[in-house]
Amino acid sequence: MVPPEGRTAILAWYAATGRELAFRRSTDPYHVLVSELMAQQTQAERAALAWEAWVERWPTVADLAGAPVADVLRAWAGLGYNRRALALHRAAQAIVADHGGVVPGDVGALEALPGVGPYTARAVAALAFGRPVGAVDVNVRRVLGRMASGGAEAYAPKAMQELADAVVPPDAAAAWTHALMDLGARLCKPAKPRCADCPATAWCRYAAGERPAAAASQAPVTRRVAPRFETTRRWLRGRILDRARDVAPGEWAAYPDAIGAHQHVAVREAMLDLAAEGLLEAREGEDGPEARLPG
Ligand code: SF4
Repeated sequence: MVPPEGRTAILAWYAATGRELAFRRSTDPYHVLVSELMAQQTQAERAALAWEAWVERWPTVADLAGAPVADVLRAWAGLGYNRRALALHRAAQAIVADHGGVVPGDVGALEALPGVGPYTARAVAALAFGRPVGAVDVNVRRVLGRMASGGAEAYAPKAMQELADAVVPPDAAAAWTHALMDLGARLCKPAKPRCADCPATAWCRYAAGERPAAAASQAPVTRRVAPRFETTRRWLRGRILDRARDVAPGEWAAYPDAIGAHQHVAVREAMLDLAAEGLLEAREGEDGPEARLPG
């Protein structure tokens, strides 16, 4: 557990040194929802740039709900994991249809929206509505686990959620959420935590040398070498979508050949998967498969 003075120190550190990210200037629930979906699996600084352009173009949830899917997918260029763009668009439509265009503040209602999982729901509830709930992503899990028990290995997901909920300062849920995210991104790194610079050092069991029993008894983790990004299906999906973004609206892009190291049959398969997910429209052209962004 993190004592009150530890929380005070972390909040003071965040107030003094927190990252200046554009989306932190807004507590509009729709703006927060956009930023949280963008910042998942995308570097926060890059997400912040995309977020500014996004909320300028679609300032309200109703604006986004009424936008063509193709425009939404074009605006998502460079952020990766394009399914998030589709989910955000569908979430906006659900908010308009089911909540009168007002983003709900209740965690359960947020989790019922397309593409919104436990983390995103709690992040929106805390950041936009000040609800005292803990948003647990991989960084926050690591930070809290280390502070409370020397490592996150000691916690099953439910126990970690309970810990995260229990330590939120009721009067500073938004700042606390940002502070833990910054701690995880800047100091409490997976391999080499910078405990000497951390505001939590005095209250942190990891910094005191403790490790959870579960971690001590586990077999050593064997790290697999990650494949080169260009050889992955994710890279290929991104290139297929980029080509569809590059043609004029309504035009079909052709995929007659291999892309990078991916054979033509793999390109066709990935394209059909993207179409099945609603990210593309596909057809058989004269020279092979063709695709375009959905209308
Ligand atoms: S003291 Fe070290 S291990 Fe503990 S939260 Fe800070 S950086 Fe992480």
